[in-house]
Amino acid sequence: MERSIYLDSHSTTPVDERVLAAMIPYFTEHFGNPSSINHLYGWEAEAAVKQTREILAEAINAAPEEIVFTSGATEANNLAIKGVAEAYFEKGQHIITVATEHSAVLDPCNYLKTLGFDISILPVKKDGIIDLNEFKKAFRPDTILVSVMAANNEIGVLQPLAEIGEMCRERGVLFHSDAAQAIGKIPLDVQAMKVDLMSLTAHKVYGPKGIGALYVRRRNPRVKLAPQQHGGGHERGMRSGTLYTPQIVGFGKAVELGLQYLETENQRLMELRETLWEKLSQLQGIHLNGHPTQRLAGNLNISVEDVDGAALLLGLQSVMAVSSGSACSSVTTAPSHVLTALGHSEQLAYASIRFGIGRFNTVEEIEKVGKYAVSVIQSLRKTAIRI
Ligand SMILES: *Cc1c(COP(=O)(O)O)cnc(C)c1O
Repeated sequence: MERSIYLDSHSTTPVDERVLAAMIPYFTEHFGNPSSINHLYGWEAEAAVKQTREILAEAINAAPEEIVFTSGATEANNLAIKGVAEAYFEKGQHIITVATEHSAVLDPCNYLKTLGFDISILPVKKDGIIDLNEFKKAFRPDTILVSVMAANNEIGVLQPLAEIGEMCRERGVLFHSDAAQAIGKIPLDVQAMKVDLMSLTAHKVYGPKGIGALYVRRRNPRVKLAPQQHGGGHERGMRSGTLYTPQIVGFGKAVELGLQYLETENQRLMELRETLWEKLSQLQGIHLNGHPTQRLAGNLNISVEDVDGAALLLGLQSVMAVSSGSACSSVTTAPSHVLTALGHSEQLAYASIRFGIGRFNTVEEIEKVGKYAVSVIQSLRKTAIRI
């Protein structure tokens, strides 16, 4: 079976060869434990870890000591949300988040609800962006935390972090942002954006899976965090466990490369996205999901009228690897919570395709994909019983 064209970059990305090359010596030659302080093996590993800490800190305008390594963004979100909830329990038990967040934010919040916390889940506007007036009204005297993502994993929408951060800071409420889709793709600055906790991951930006980090602000204000994993006291007690040096090295290299080519790569991705959108939007009844410009360069998410969602995905599958509005958690067949939050009907939420264009996609691939998708939609509309 021939491999299809990979267009699922929001789900994961391949490891860049340069990232892999940087990682390899840390499996075999420099295999030491970064916590071993008595010999060269440990020092070498510690130096490599320190370098990634510095790269990540610089990437978001933080200090290296504020980076806590985790197994990915899921763990970072859990640590941020549950860690703050536990540490600030006496101050209040109200948390604000948004309907379009990743399940790694919504589910920890739902879990906290079972412990008696009060969670406000705000709607978004039709374009997927948070309504700042509604947001302002959601604050209460007992609000301890706000969690709003930087970039959405389905519709690519970028939330106005600086405005949100400003409102949180004025009220003395901590601000967490899930930046899993944003790191190495858009500029991030935790000072300018007044973010207190930020979740990062490597595998959406051509780094390895299984490594991420949580930024935890140390000054103005100093964030208290109850650890969710106890043990040897690594990462200043916030996350115990021997650091995974090769993955950490890969994470640093991946972010470094992402930032190095950020502008030219975003320009290229945007042109590819435009090419695809021009082709698809020649058809009637195609909707662009999410804000037209406030979005990740490589994201194109569309809903298609008058076709069955499952048939559409099945039709495209031989040529392209994409996700649909119902495939995100493929065990359930519920329509995407993100697309329904935009106010879509069930049909439009189901009959949606997320194209995640990435570093290794070419113009030729995008042209082929556009042409093929158009023909699939046309033939489904012609043959299918209208639904
Ligand atoms: C992928 C993703 C996650 C989960 O990250 P892992 O590193 O795979 O745990 C969380 N949030 C968003 C927005 C994501 O895109």
